[in-house]
Amino acid sequence: PPAIQLSHISKVYKNGTVALQDLNLAIPESQFISIVGPSGCGKSTVLKLIAGLGRISSGTINWGLPPQARKLAFVFQDAALMPWANVKENVRLPLKLAGVSPQETNSLVQQTLALVGLEKCERSYPRELSGGMKMRVSIARALVTQPNILLMDEPFGALDEITRSKLNSDLLNLWYQHHWTVVFVTHNIYEAVYLSNRVVVMGTNPGRIIADIEIAAPYPRS
Ligand code: ADP
Ligand code: ADP
Repeated sequence: PPAIQLSHISKVYKNGTVALQDLNLAIPESQFISIVGPSGCGKSTVLKLIAGLGRISSGTINWGLPPQARKLAFVFQDAALMPWANVKENVRLPLKLAGVSPQETNSLVQQTLALVGLEKCERSYPRELSGGMKMRVSIARALVTQPNILLMDEPFGALDEITRSKLNSDLLNLWYQHHWTVVFVTHNIYEAVYLSNRVVVMGTNPGRIIADIEIAAPYPRS
């Protein structure tokens, strides 16, 4: 079965805004799918509903994995780091909240910091970091939970082009190693095509899918 299957999803916000209408989308396991489209077409709403943040007005979401095996992590555009905590403490937070043992926490945090290239600044505070480094911390904080589904909402939207392209290639390398199912929201069609196996284009009024394009793999992606 698909990792995530959205069937006939509609979302009407309390103020009457029809954000999504009859949206159907089946996302296979290990696919890196991007959702692109103009501001307001419902991209974030799709991600939020997948993440379980907010009620679905009608339709269903079906999952390939049972609830206990489903491990979702969310990365936002605003890195949303705790300003009073250093890099290591920020990355450690989800494990602490989940009650993971200190030993396991330490090894997972070290591993993850190395994975995203943050070993050298684990003692730095968010205010001392560039936008790109902050985003790395935010990604580390998601990956430290060992997710199998990664939801990313315009994560690199606020970064300059050079930093964005470096993070894109690092993210793609990580994906080749881990094969999470990734749902990636972006305004940037080039970024979507570079990163993804598949690009879904949404249109507005009301939010719905207007194109669904498979991207040929430049080299094997299995
Ligand atoms: P729901 O209909 O899913 O219960 P709500 O209408 O209660 O959602 O809105 C959830 C939150 O989002 C509220 O805090 C609301 O103020 C905020 N919000 C309202 N309008 C917008 C908007 N256009 N874009 C983003 N957030 C909004
Ligand atoms: P996108 O991510 O593509 O910019 P969104 O999913 O944020 O689109 O928003 C889709 C539509 O729903 C927009 O018209 C937006 O203003 C509206 N919207 C988003 N969140 C809320 C909310 N909490 N309450 C009311 N309207 C919302």
